[in-house]
Amino acid sequence: MAEKPQPPPDPELELDPPEGYRYVWMPDDSCRLTTEEEKQSRRCRRPGCMREVAIGLQRGFGQQQKWWLYCDWHMYGRRIVDGVVQWPRLTKDGE
Ligand SMILES: [Zn+2]
Repeated sequence: MAEKPQPPPDPELELDPPEGYRYVWMPDDSCRLTTEEEKQSRRCRRPGCMREVAIGLQRGFGQQQKWWLYCDWHMYGRRIVDGVVQWPRLTKDGE
């Protein structure tokens, strides 16, 4: 029997804002979705992970910038909603 692919964990559940703050999901401009070609040819950058890539994360600076590709299990607290990579910004209540 083929193993059923498990859905990635919900990063929302990991969030535990301090008193008086909350997390607001914002588009993450340092990330992009992977292309079909990348999904076919690349695997998650996380050591030991062989899942299909979902996002590219921009690493480095200046001329050294590179896209590091990760699967939807290894997005470091980010999530994908309607084709947009989002990250949770800590925001003061009332802002
Ligand atoms: Zn992975």
